[in-house]
Amino acid sequence: MPTRLHLSLLSGLLALVVPAAALAQYAHGAHEHGVADLTLALEGRMLQIELISPLDNLVGFEHAPANEAQRGALADAERRLLDGEAMFAFSAAAGCAIREVGIESPWPQSGRNHDHRHAHDHAQPTRGDHEDMVVSYGFECAHPEALRQVELRAFGHFPRLQRVRAEFATPRGQGAGVLTPDAAALAL
Ligand SMILES: [Zn+2]
Repeated sequence: MPTRLHLSLLSGLLALVVPAAALAQYAHGAHEHGVADLTLALEGRMLQIELISPLDNLVGFEHAPANEAQRGALADAERRLLDGEAMFAFSAAAGCAIREVGIESPWPQSGRNHDHRHAHDHAQPTRGDHEDMVVSYGFECAHPEALRQVELRAFGHFPRLQRVRAEFATPRGQGAGVLTPDAAALAL
């Protein structure tokens, strides 16, 4: 359990760090099909990553699943997104390993986020025909100083995804970049 306590403490610290980037992201990060937003924050050994994507990029629709094929598409997208070590590749020397992952979907299929769905249905105003999926990853890096590059491997899984707006904050500074299928690596 010491590890979990350790992570909770770090998450609390990160929560103090991330909002500036998150606010900037929401300021320009309008829901746009083909585009997703990625935020990375490195604090100590912990790298927190958040991916926000229109559902259309991931499954090709943004309405409640109407049949088995659409439920299957949602479940497949969840499964791919939750596999943090398949979604990202890091500088090998940094020794980053996945520690936690969470997903918010308007129509969760895995059953692991029922509370989020409940909150979504009852507490959030509808956004018309548009819905997002939000995925949060926590990686722990044995040698965070060696973390110089993050490659996003989502493009191969989700061909409707064309562009990802990325923002990052590390002890060395902050920055931003745009990732595409042909240029999917972000230099930190
Ligand atoms: Zn939409």
